[in-house]
Amino acid sequence: MDNTDNLESSKPGGNHNQLLTSAQKEISILRARIFELYTLYTLSKTLNMSAQVNGFFENIINILKNSLKIEEFCFLLKNEECNDLKVWKANGDIYDTIKDVSFKTGEGISGIAADSGEPILINDVSKDKRFLYYKDKIPNIGSFMSIPLKLSNNKVIGVLNLHKRETNAFKEHEKTLFCDVAQDIAHTIERAKLYEKAQKESISDYLTKLYTRKYFLDTCYREHNKAERYEGIFSVIIADIDYFKYLNDTYGHSFGDEILKKLAYILKSNVREMDVVSRYGGEEFAILLPGTEKVNATLIAEKLRATVEKELVIVSSSGEAEKTTITAGISTYPQDGKTVEEIIAAADKFLYIGKEHGRNRVIHTALFEQPKTHEKRLHNRYKTTLKAARGMNHILYLEIKANNKDWKMCALNDISETGFKGEVEYELEINNIYTCKVVSYPEIYTPNVFSIRVTNAKKVGDRYQIGAELTGVHNEWKKMFTLMTHQMVF
Ligand code: GH3
Ligand code: MG
Ligand code: MG
Repeated sequence: MDNTDNLESSKPGGNHNQLLTSAQKEISILRARIFELYTLYTLSKTLNMSAQVNGFFENIINILKNSLKIEEFCFLLKNEECNDLKVWKANGDIYDTIKDVSFKTGEGISGIAADSGEPILINDVSKDKRFLYYKDKIPNIGSFMSIPLKLSNNKVIGVLNLHKRETNAFKEHEKTLFCDVAQDIAHTIERAKLYEKAQKESISDYLTKLYTRKYFLDTCYREHNKAERYEGIFSVIIADIDYFKYLNDTYGHSFGDEILKKLAYILKSNVREMDVVSRYGGEEFAILLPGTEKVNATLIAEKLRATVEKELVIVSSSGEAEKTTITAGISTYPQDGKTVEEIIAAADKFLYIGKEHGRNRVIHTALFEQPKTHEKRLHNRYKTTLKAARGMNHILYLEIKANNKDWKMCALNDISETGFKGEVEYELEINNIYTCKVVSYPEIYTPNVFSIRVTNAKKVGDRYQIGAELTGVHNEWKKMFTLMTHQMVF
């Protein structure tokens, strides 16, 4: 007891007053405790609702500023690779000033607090040499408290620094409160990080880093909604590796995995940023092309097919080169279906047709026309009943050397292994031999020359419909026929 207490107790009623004062003190301590508990309760409640790291920061600002009356604060988080503390968030204006600051373990007050796992209170920063003013980025402040962000297993994930303008502004007993607050925050940050990681993993395939099937489908539904509302379009490519089981069986499963990764890279780097490339299944990939019509989706798929064929070459131990190829089906909303399911089923169906007809090809329609009875004779002659859709493929047209010097265009109707039917704007002599070549997009195939004999020619309007038979070396044509039918089988 001090003198004042003695004086008080010697006065009449002094005891009563003394009792009153100590009761008031206790009440005020209790009030402070209730206030602290209430703050912690509000904090936990708020933090428990925060699922994402960034969303939770807005909530924390309110609590630190309004309930705990902290003017300025800063979070530093540990970089998991190098253990350095890096500024993550800070309130108000100081963020821009200090955002690039980092501390090594044991460096500055923050580094020491993170290292020791104990809070550090500095009543006057100007008197403590360990305080580094965020590497001289901020002016003098009064008091400072650095509290480790510690999980219940004692792992420190960062620090929370509190600043007050006046010296001696923090009370010693507040350390416990702020440690509790910091632990709550640490758990929330950890939980939010895990949540974000899980979110990322649910949209990203672990092996290829492409989007997952789920993300692809979710995006398809969103795109479909938009397309339905605004009469938009979109296309889907489903591509599957040809004979992948053989690759696995021959070269091993991890080699197969490498092929999947390389293929993923080719697909991703040959489409636009906005296109969604996903791993749809084991060795099956699905690509969503928003706002893309069938013609362009087909060109893209063909570019992918040709790039894979060119770049995904395996050289076996005996030095033999072996190509890895893909087959792809392309469907487009709304022409191939009204729902996402119908669009995907259509792409799948076209892919299946591609597999059935030899693989390493791109299919965008099921237009496999059955010969009608009156066309049977024609089909005996043109054994392969392919319908050539002009302008849709990389093969643009044929050119025929009409008068032994000028190349003139011949539009294609039907082709077969032994010849073709076409349309020209000039007269050709029946039974004459002409030189002919295929004109394609030059970056895909160089034009190939071969000989034909005109078997029939009929004038229709101001054009001539012709039939032509191959003569001479058939190998060249065979190659061209394969290239053309790869493009033209619908
Ligand atoms: P097709 O041309 O008809 O598509 O023949 P395929 O051999 O590619 O088709 P199939 O469906 O018979 O085989 C697919 C193979 O893909 C079987 C499976 O072992 C392999 N596969 C699926 N996922 C993975 C993976 O993640 N890694 C590896 N290495 N192989 C996988
Ligand atoms: Mg396959
Ligand atoms: Mg498959």
